[in-house]
Amino acid sequence: MAKPIEKLVRRLTDTTRKPWLRGVIVALGVVVLGFVFYVTARGVSRQVWAWLRKPKDMATVARIRATKMKEWKYIVLHHSATPKGNVASFDTYHRQERKWPNGLGYHFVIGNGTFSGDGEVEVGDRWKDQREGAHCADLNSTAIGICLVGNFEDSAPTPKQIESLVGLIRHLQAVCHVPAQNILLHRQAPGGSTLCPGRNFPFEQVKRLLAAPAQPEPAT
Ligand SMILES: [Zn+2]
Repeated sequence: MAKPIEKLVRRLTDTTRKPWLRGVIVALGVVVLGFVFYVTARGVSRQVWAWLRKPKDMATVARIRATKMKEWKYIVLHHSATPKGNVASFDTYHRQERKWPNGLGYHFVIGNGTFSGDGEVEVGDRWKDQREGAHCADLNSTAIGICLVGNFEDSAPTPKQIESLVGLIRHLQAVCHVPAQNILLHRQAPGGSTLCPGRNFPFEQVKRLLAAPAQPEPAT
C-alpha cells in the first residue's frame, strides 16, 4: 500500500534525475512560508493596532479624570437658530466659519431628532476639557453653555428636549453649585444683543420644572 506512494515521492523529489525540480521545491517552500508569514503578520498587526489604540483611549479617560472641574457660576441657554444640527455640525461651523480653533462654542448640545436623537444630550470637548466656552460675550469664562437644536423664533423645543434640559441643569447645579438665579437665557446675559433662544423658548416652564422636586425614575 505504502510502496507506490514511496516510489512516487522518490521519483518526484529525485533532483539528480530532474535538476529543475529543486527550483520547484524551493518555490513551493517560499509560497508556503510566505503564506504562513502573511497569516501571522495579519494577526500580529491586528494586535499591534489594538495596542496602539488602547493607550490613546486610556489617555483620553485619564485626561477627563485628571481635569479639575472649573469653577462655573452661570448656566446660559441657547437655541441653535437652525432647524437641524448636532455637536459635529456646530463644531464644524464654529471651526470653519467662525475660525475658532477650539471648535464648538457650547458645552452641551441637546438634539431635536434631526442629526442626533430627540432629547439626546451630547457633550462637547470644552466640557470634557473643562475649558471656557464661546457662546455669550461677557460670561464665557464662568458660564456653561447649553444649546438646544432648533429655531425657537419659528418653532418650539420638543418635550424630550425640555425633559433632557431640566435633567441636565439639575445635574450641573448639583455638581457645580450654580444657583437658580444664575440660570440665564442668552438674551439676558450681559454683553450681547440677541433674540437667543427665541421667543418660543418656554423659560417659565423650565423654571417651574426645576423648582418641582425631581420625579423618581419609573420602575421597569
Ligand atoms: Zn445664544
